[in-house]
Amino acid sequence: MRDYGIHIWSNGDFVIEDGVVKVNYRSKPSLYEIVKKVRDTGIRGPLLIRFPHLIEKQIGALYSQFNRAIEAFDYKGEFHAVFPLKVNQFPNFIESLIPIADKFNYGLEAGSKAELIIAMAYNNRGAPITVNGFKDRSMITLGFLSAQMGHNTTLTIEGLNELENIVEVAREFGDVTPNIGLRIRLHSSGIGIWAKSGGINSKFGLTSTELLEAVDMLRKHNLLDRFTMIHFHIGSQIGEINPVKKALREAGNIYAELKKMGADNLNNINLGGGLAVEYSQHEHVHHRNYTLTEFTNDVVFLLKEIAQQKGVQEPHIYTESGRFIAASHAVLVTPVLELFSQEYTEKGLRLKEENPPLIEELYDLYKTINPDNAIEYFHDSLDHMESLLTLFDLGYIDLQDRSNTEILVHLIIKKAIELTKERGRAELKRIQDRVQERYLLNFSLFQSLPDFWGLGQRFPVMPLDRLDQTPTRSASLWDITCDSDGEIDFNVDYPLLLHDVDLGKEEYFLAFFLVGAYQEILGMKHNLFTHPTEVTVEFGEEGYSLKNMVESQTILDILYDLDYDINDLQSRLKSLIAESSLIEQERKDRVIDILNILLHENNYLKISAKRESDG
Ligand SMILES: *Cc1c(COP(=O)(O)O)cnc(C)c1O
Repeated sequence: MRDYGIHIWSNGDFVIEDGVVKVNYRSKPSLYEIVKKVRDTGIRGPLLIRFPHLIEKQIGALYSQFNRAIEAFDYKGEFHAVFPLKVNQFPNFIESLIPIADKFNYGLEAGSKAELIIAMAYNNRGAPITVNGFKDRSMITLGFLSAQMGHNTTLTIEGLNELENIVEVAREFGDVTPNIGLRIRLHSSGIGIWAKSGGINSKFGLTSTELLEAVDMLRKHNLLDRFTMIHFHIGSQIGEINPVKKALREAGNIYAELKKMGADNLNNINLGGGLAVEYSQHEHVHHRNYTLTEFTNDVVFLLKEIAQQKGVQEPHIYTESGRFIAASHAVLVTPVLELFSQEYTEKGLRLKEENPPLIEELYDLYKTINPDNAIEYFHDSLDHMESLLTLFDLGYIDLQDRSNTEILVHLIIKKAIELTKERGRAELKRIQDRVQERYLLNFSLFQSLPDFWGLGQRFPVMPLDRLDQTPTRSASLWDITCDSDGEIDFNVDYPLLLHDVDLGKEEYFLAFFLVGAYQEILGMKHNLFTHPTEVTVEFGEEGYSLKNMVESQTILDILYDLDYDINDLQSRLKSLIAESSLIEQERKDRVIDILNILLHENNYLKISAKRESDG
């Protein structure tokens, strides 16, 4: 994995050149350079970088591939798409999305009342709005308002009771009624960890029987002409093409049957989302077995075939893919705070006049290790450590001996890695398979990679620089939450190899890619670590600029959001200082000032090691 799989997951968005990872666009800045610029303003902690040009790239690819397929198969329907807001509702994402969307007449999908409000306020004129999810009367009323504001709005019905509500609201609101879509419950189901959205046991959609009832109801209340769309969504990150094809056959036939029953204005079939993203960093594990070209060809071809067979008009095709559009636009950069084994230096040794024999032996191994015996000595040192730790548990050696043991073993590991580095992969790998270095990163994975915590979803990760140097340490990654789940470990078959850096002298950053879909809104405030500092990188003809920088919330803001009375909280702290006999009277104002500064800092670490303080 020399290039960290960048040729597999990056889709050409990022490249390695001159030992650094660069944005593969226009002036091609390195991520390192962008991070430096932000940190030069004094900001520390994790950084989420947004690249709107990558949103545009994905939307452009979606439209151009569907339109190409439509032309190739001489398909009579059109292609339309909406962005599902649940994937990313953050204002700086939406701000970038909307002007891009305008170029394509790309719309928005809302799954709740609050999302619908965002869509109503920001959607481009004429671009479609689709409304999914469970709906109460208020949400349906909002849908009517949206239509009456002039938005091309479709309310997708998830159950018959919603239709009853629509009938009632229509009676009250009269003239302009939104389009009505019916979500169909498919027999075929999705696959993968998000499969519960599709299939006969799905949480959503109307069964065949309910569809028949729905059409009757619509007809009875003179709303059948508003019925324009059928909708399905078989799940997110559909890694294989077959379930998509199966679902399309089923949906295509339902579409044709409903048209034959007199649903004359039914002209649209909405495939939902599910287009997968390739997250893999490894050649032989793929998270997606099809290309966008294949996907669009299959969809267009199948729908054409069904429409022809059943003698109905070819429907307009709608998609609601979110992950595919948003994932690549955001990169999370985390500063490395610590390599655990770096605490172990020769200076720390406190050897005695007379040491236990095994420690003498360890010391001997350390002094005489060479390229020929490195692997053997490495193994011996691990055995010795086992024995010495047992001796400690049994009370035969003391804490000083134990400390010497730990230091010597880590020094031997380091030396063994250095000595075998030149000898080719196989020997080095024997060491990497047995020991992992723990890298402590200034971020919370609960906040920034919740799908890793919840679903085991892995995101591509790599260092920003030193990419012209062979990484020697097999790594595991730790976040700064006080939770033992805050760890990303790597299987020996798929290790993450990182560089051995001296963080007292130099900086080291890791970037996680493809974090632009779902992660931000699913992120949780475990230990009160909130959304990281974010910035948007906008490219011009030459160079780029940084905009919409929002620093991670201050401690006071975090507590305010939790509904603490922050005035009360601050006055409690102040009176504790005022009443304390442990602080001299003349220092008290100064102490209060310091406290105020700290309360206005963000919650991530501002470590006083080289790079986190004076960077
Ligand atoms: C979640 C969802 C989407 C988006 O799915 P992706 O996998 O992100 O493309 C689209 N439509 C509906 C109805 C959804 O619930």
